[in-house]
Amino acid sequence: ATPTAVMVATGKGASQGVLIKGGSSLEKAHKVNAVVFDKTGTLTIGKPVVVSAVVFSSFSMEEFCDMATSAEVNSEHPIAKAVVEHAKRLRQNIGAKSEHITEVKDFEVHTGAGVTGKVGDRMVLVGNRRLMQACNVMVGPEVENYIAENEQLARTCVLVSIDGKIAGAFAVTDPVKPEAEHVISFLRSMGISSVMVTGDNWATAAAIAKEVGIKEVFAETDPLGKADRIKDLQGKGMIVAMVGDGINDSPALVAADVGMAIGAGTDVAIEAADIVLIKSNLEDVVTAIDLSRKTIFRIR
Ligand code: ADP
Ligand code: MG
Repeated sequence: ATPTAVMVATGKGASQGVLIKGGSSLEKAHKVNAVVFDKTGTLTIGKPVVVSAVVFSSFSMEEFCDMATSAEVNSEHPIAKAVVEHAKRLRQNIGAKSEHITEVKDFEVHTGAGVTGKVGDRMVLVGNRRLMQACNVMVGPEVENYIAENEQLARTCVLVSIDGKIAGAFAVTDPVKPEAEHVISFLRSMGISSVMVTGDNWATAAAIAKEVGIKEVFAETDPLGKADRIKDLQGKGMIVAMVGDGINDSPALVAADVGMAIGAGTDVAIEAADIVLIKSNLEDVVTAIDLSRKTIFRIR
């Protein structure tokens, strides 16, 4: 495309909320034949809510909530915000006084897994099964049942362990964006296949993928693993666009032929991307590819 055509298209994109950072991404986007979507915050709304909570051990609901809250108030993760919010409501329901948030020592964020730290003299872990396994916390059959039940319903389970034992769990749900399903079927009609990569577990990922019509899924993937999946597709000769919103998506956004960041996403993702979807609407994935196709083919 001529520089003028690129400029016109970039302007047109901007007016529709599709921010194209350079001419080269516009030139590449028309060749895209695979779109890789992150799950949380990209295919889903990204505002998870807790829909159930359970205490497995001898801890009181009150104590359990305080421990989970103390650890999660330090996390920026949307799941952490949902847990804190729900714990607060639970306390109100049982008529307990305002929560006891204890300062956490040795706080650590485990990307794609959860958080850990010392609450008072107790070691508290909040996160997924993988986090528990990595920290040698046994996940017994009762807990496994709770997890399986909820994951089949596309919910993510947040486990809480206190001093090396699972104390309880929260089940979190994050609804898919209303446009997700038809965008994926529209992409298919354009000859473009859709893939999901997520840090979340396989069962939840599969349930969400089914809801939106995605057949190829990679779950339990860390940030570099997401980039590796992009490279695998490129190795098979695919031209790949990656759509993501999180810090954990930035290596994949960079690895992709065209990186597209959700406007409501984190600054790190927006910086790593070639194209920003300002409205955070997945229909703009189609808008961007379509704009590129029109720009390239009009000239030739
Ligand atoms: P995605 O790739 O779908 O955007 P993430 O990589 O951010 O998801 O997180 C993957 C998983 O790690 C989450 O589904 C959750 O189980 C767990 N996780 C990460 N951070 C936290 C946290 N602060 N509290 C609880 N669970 C967490
Ligand atoms: Mg995300």
